[in-house]
Order: sequence, then structure tokens, then C-alpha cells
Amino acid sequence: MGEMQTGIEYLKGVGPERARLLKEELNIRTFEDLLHFFPNRYIDRSQFYPINQLPQNNSEVQIKGKITQIEYVSQKRGKRMVAQFEDATGAMELVWFRGYQWIRESLKLNQPYVIFGRLNWFKGKASMPHPEMELEENFQKGVKAAFYPIYPSTEKLINKGISQRVIQKLVAHLIERGGTPFSETLPPYLLDHYKLIAKEKALKEVHYPTTQYDLSRAQARLKFEEFFYLQMQLILKNLQRKKKIKGFTFSEVGSAFHTFFKEHLPFPLTQAQKRVVKEIRMDLGSGRQMNRLLQGDVGSGKTIVALLSMLIAIDNQFQACLVAPTEILAQQHYQSLSSLLHGTGVQIALLTGSTKAKERKPLFEALETGTFNILIGTHAVFEEKVQFKNLGLAIIDEQHRFGVAQRAKLWAKNEIPPHVLVMTATPIPRTLAMSIYGDLDLSVIDELPPGRKPVKTSHRFESKRLAVFAFIKEQIQEGRQVYVVYPLIQESEKLDYKDLMDGYESITRSFPPPQYQVSILHGQMKSEDKAYEMERFAEGKTQIMVATTVIEVGVNVPNASVMIIESAERFGLSQLHQLRGRVGRGASQSYCILMSGSKLSEEGKTRLQTMVNSSDGFEIAEADLRLRGPGNLMGTQQSGVLQLKIADVIKDSTLLKAARDTAQQILKQDPELKQAEHQIIKRTLAALRFDSNIWNFIS
Ligand code: ADP
Ligand code: MG
Repeated sequence: MGEMQTGIEYLKGVGPERARLLKEELNIRTFEDLLHFFPNRYIDRSQFYPINQLPQNNSEVQIKGKITQIEYVSQKRGKRMVAQFEDATGAMELVWFRGYQWIRESLKLNQPYVIFGRLNWFKGKASMPHPEMELEENFQKGVKAAFYPIYPSTEKLINKGISQRVIQKLVAHLIERGGTPFSETLPPYLLDHYKLIAKEKALKEVHYPTTQYDLSRAQARLKFEEFFYLQMQLILKNLQRKKKIKGFTFSEVGSAFHTFFKEHLPFPLTQAQKRVVKEIRMDLGSGRQMNRLLQGDVGSGKTIVALLSMLIAIDNQFQACLVAPTEILAQQHYQSLSSLLHGTGVQIALLTGSTKAKERKPLFEALETGTFNILIGTHAVFEEKVQFKNLGLAIIDEQHRFGVAQRAKLWAKNEIPPHVLVMTATPIPRTLAMSIYGDLDLSVIDELPPGRKPVKTSHRFESKRLAVFAFIKEQIQEGRQVYVVYPLIQESEKLDYKDLMDGYESITRSFPPPQYQVSILHGQMKSEDKAYEMERFAEGKTQIMVATTVIEVGVNVPNASVMIIESAERFGLSQLHQLRGRVGRGASQSYCILMSGSKLSEEGKTRLQTMVNSSDGFEIAEADLRLRGPGNLMGTQQSGVLQLKIADVIKDSTLLKAARDTAQQILKQDPELKQAEHQIIKRTLAALRFDSNIWNFIS
């Protein structure tokens, strides 16, 4: 391995200046990094476009022709070099804005060239800025492969003359050296089982593909390897954590749990809820710290699972806390849990940012002496001053709003950290969750409580507003309530705020008092006012709630049956799904109406259509991932998935699953990798530890 760790500056053709650029721009530091720097596209080298048949867009093309003339054209700042380029069918311009002094010296007039680059169209005429070019005779000699690899690059690299050509040449030097980098990293039985090609062949093919078929086999092999070792590391880390981190043993499931279950549970649990409670019980009794992610679509009933888990803590003489992302939600949890626990003797308290100073002192004391069994709160709970007598379980609702650092703060309160349960309604595909939250165990509530009717969703243009209002009136007539939600994004907060106020006015005009009462809720209101408005709506004193997305998370008013989302095209899919989840919580048929202007982008259209067609959170999450990529997913920034060099967690999810299953099986059967056939894995893992890339991003 040593040789492959050689600094990139020592590779023929690199030197200190290029090495610096490669490091800064592409994070390529060693021979190994370069060899594992993979093309992201390939161009078929046997295809040349005739100039009169060029595609009328900005695609990248390969053309054969001659330069007939070169001139310099003055422009605002400096000048540009323009070459006339012709083939038998027509002519176009090649343009250089920079670096033309040394390019000019190498260009030969009236000699056949092969050029490659991105087309630029202006007034019906094609040009190509900064083409990659090569004399045709050299091109023919240089053709080792049917495809031309295109590597990821940056503006700066191109400006500094590190073109595709240069990178290809550097990779070629490495490949010609041969040696250790090509040694196999997967055991032969795995290669056999998954019909994977050898590492050496895969690396050569991926840089110089001979056929499309061989290229896809090479990619599959390298992707599998990448997933496999990422999963190996994640699983090993998880095993280590479990071994190392001791946890409180909740051996009892006692009277608090059983009494509640027999006498206070308002409905029978779904099968999924039962399964998840069992999983949590196992963890809590194991003597190791629980670190579990509970996923469940909106309305799937996570709260009751949280409560039952907290009761187990209480049965073992521990306290529990439940942390919510917003004050409204914390209050709501407090109210609904208080009423569920009424008559059980369990003591429950609320702490938020607006808890008054004079209430805090006695509250803090009661927490320290253990008078309170359960604390519900916002992140005020994480404050230094909040000390528990013995916190045994911390539950975090809607975790995407909290950083991992905050989670750790909680742990530090005891020598033995409390068990942690993180609940989220942002469903992400299971395989992806595994790669992102590899250090958390995963429970999924994949079933809604019985009797829920899917929310009927439709998309209406602004021109149909009157009809929509008429529909709202009908629903209110039948005793239902309505949400009208406006987007609020940071960048245009003032404008959005105005939209909200205008909307509120127009609604009070169409729904005048005293027959109708309208509530308003937005982030700039004082928290008492928010709570007051929320309460009036929850009690049915107002029929319409006009709000910004402050109601997005968790708000539960079962009698509300209509959700109108204004400028719906401006919301992301997961947000739309969250908002829609605010209705359909009672027995009556519910509706979600997505309002939009008539001008919609393709992506906007797809999003709204997805919402109309599907009510399944997991399906929607997958669509979201396809539209936006995993980079925008909450939590991915900290994870290894974005650091993948060739595999793609969404497109290659089948391979990911195979790799994960394999890794799990191997570690189950040979946890310390002692078997002869696994030595190759052990060696590769040991070498990977030098690759800070992955380790930096996990944890
Ligand atoms: P979420 O998972 O979105 O937090 P909640 O816990 O708020 O969902 O539950 C949504 C609604 O479903 C609540 O009104 C709750 O009382 C109800 N609910 C939860 N579990 C069941 C069940 N097993 N049977 C019937 N209703 C249930
Ligand atoms: Mg909830």
C-alpha cells in the first residue's frame, strides 16, 4: 500500500504547482486518490458531429475539422482569440478568452483536428469556448478505448490548463506503472457470488472503457466495493459503540407501564407500534445504551410509543424527557400527555423558552429532587441549569431540527448516558437511512392507525380560487375546520409576510365575522399569542387558521379537514407532505388543496403531481431524493454518503442493499475477521483507516 500513498506531486507530469491545485480543487493528494478519481461521464469516441447537424443546445460534442484562420477580437476587457473551424459541411468558431498566448503557438492551420467541448449558441450560430483539441493523427494513435472519459473538474483547473487531456494523461501514467493498487480487495467467494470482475480489470476499464458492457461491469464492481467497505465501517463502529457504551439496565416493566396499558390506553396499538415498542424494550433492558431512530410517517402514532417508552424508564426509577422542535409542539405534547396520564400518578412538567423565571426555580428543584418523572420541552431543556435527578431516557421529536452536538450535551449529564430515542416523520428510504444514520439502530412504524381515509389531494390554479372558497364554506357548514398556509422563507421574509397578511385580509373579507372566526399564526408573534390562537383553533372557536409553516410540525387538531397550501409550488416535497399530514387525523374525509400560479417549472409541476398521486411518505421521500439528490437531505451533510466516489445511494440502491447484507452476514459469522478468506477484508479495512475521508464524516 505504501507506494500508493505517495504524494501526487511525485507523479510524472505533476510537480508542486499542479499538486497544489489538484489538492485544493479535487482533494487528490496521493497516487491512490487519483486512481480512484473516477470519470463521471463518457463520450463515445467513434462519434463525430458534422457541423451542419450540431444539436441546437449546449451539449458537449466531438467534431473533426480544420482551423482555417485565427484572429484576435477586442472586447470590453482585453481581447479574445477566435479560430475559424470548418469541416465538409460547414463552419463554426472556436474561442479562447484566456491563455491564448501559449495555445496559439501550438495550433496548426489547415491540419485535421479532433475537437471536443461544450457548444454555445448565439443568434443561431454555434461556437465552442476553450475546446479540448488534438491533431487527428495523434488522436488515432491515442485511441486506447472506445470512450473518452470526462472527469469532474472546476473552472479554476481549466483556467490553469489542467484540462481533461492532462488528467487523462496523469491517470495513464499511473495505470501504466501497474503494481499494488490493482491488488484485489474482495474475497474470491464474493466476486464469484456476485459475479464481480477483478479489481485490476475494473480500474482499467473505468478509466479506459472498451465497451459499454465492460464499463458497466467495472462500475458495478467498484460501486459494490465502495458500499461494502462503507457499510463494514459503519457496522463495526456500531458494534464497538455497543460494546463500549454502557447503559442503564431497565430490567423491570412494572406498574406504571402495565397500569397505563390496561387502564388508560385510548386505543389498541397497531401491529407496527407493538413491534417498535418491543424493539425499544429490548434495547432498554440490554445494559447497553440505546441509540435508536424511530421513523414513522406523519400521523402514524409515534407519540404513544414515546410515552410507553418513558413509562418503562419510570418503572425503573428513572426520569425521562421529550424534546420538541417548537414551542407549539412542546405545549401540545404536554397537553396530550398530561391528559393521557391523568389519574396515573405520573408527574409531568413543561419547560420552554417562555417559561417564566419565577416558575423555573421550583421546576428545576423538582427535577433535581425527582418529583417530576417526565419533562417535556423545547431545546431549553439542553441548558446547563437543567439538572435531572436521574435522567434515563431522552426522546427527541423531529430530530432534523437538532444537531448531534446537542444530543451529546444531554449525555454528558451523567457518567452513564441516558438512552436516546430520536423520532422523525421525514421518512427516508431504509437503505439510505442505514448509510446516513449507520450508528443508530432503526425502527419503523410502517402502518397507519385503522380507519384513516387517505387525504384527497388536488391542485388548483389561482383562477379557481372562488370555487375553492365555496368548498371551504361547505366544509365549515359541516362543522369542519380549515388551515390556509403561506410559504415563509428567509430570503424574502418581508414579501412573504405581506402575502400572509394580504391573504388573511382577503379571507376575513370572504369569511366575515360573526358567522366565521379566523385565527392567524406566524413566527413573529409572541409565544403567548401563538399559544392563544392555537388553543382557540384547537377548541373549535375559530374555523379557519391562516398560518405560515410554523404549523408544519406535529400540530394535531383532528377536526380540521381541509389544508389549503398557498403558492404550493414554492414548498419542497417533504414540507408539503408534512403540511398535508395536519389533516386526515380524524374520522371524516379530509382534503388538501395545492394552490399555485399558472407558471410552473417542470420540477414544480412534478412535485405537485407527486403529491396529488401519492400519500405514502416513503414514496414521496424517494421522489424528493430523485428530484433533489441526497445532498439536500437533512443530515446527509454530516454523513459519508456524499463522499462516495462512484456509487450513488439512490440510483444504486440495489447494490447498496446487497453490500450491506453481505457486510452484516460476514460480521455476524466472523466478527473479528479471523477466517483465512476474510484476511483480505481485514487488510483493506486497516488501510482504509488512513483514508480520513470517510472517518471524518461518520459520527
Ligand atoms: P405522529 O407519528 O405524527 O407523531 P401522533 O402520535 O400525533 O402521530 O398520532 C396521530 C393521531 O393518531 C393522534 O391523534 C393519536 O391519538 C392517534 N393514534 C395513534 N395511534 C393510534 C392507534 N393505534 N389507533 C388509533 N389512533 C391512534
Ligand atoms: Mg408527532
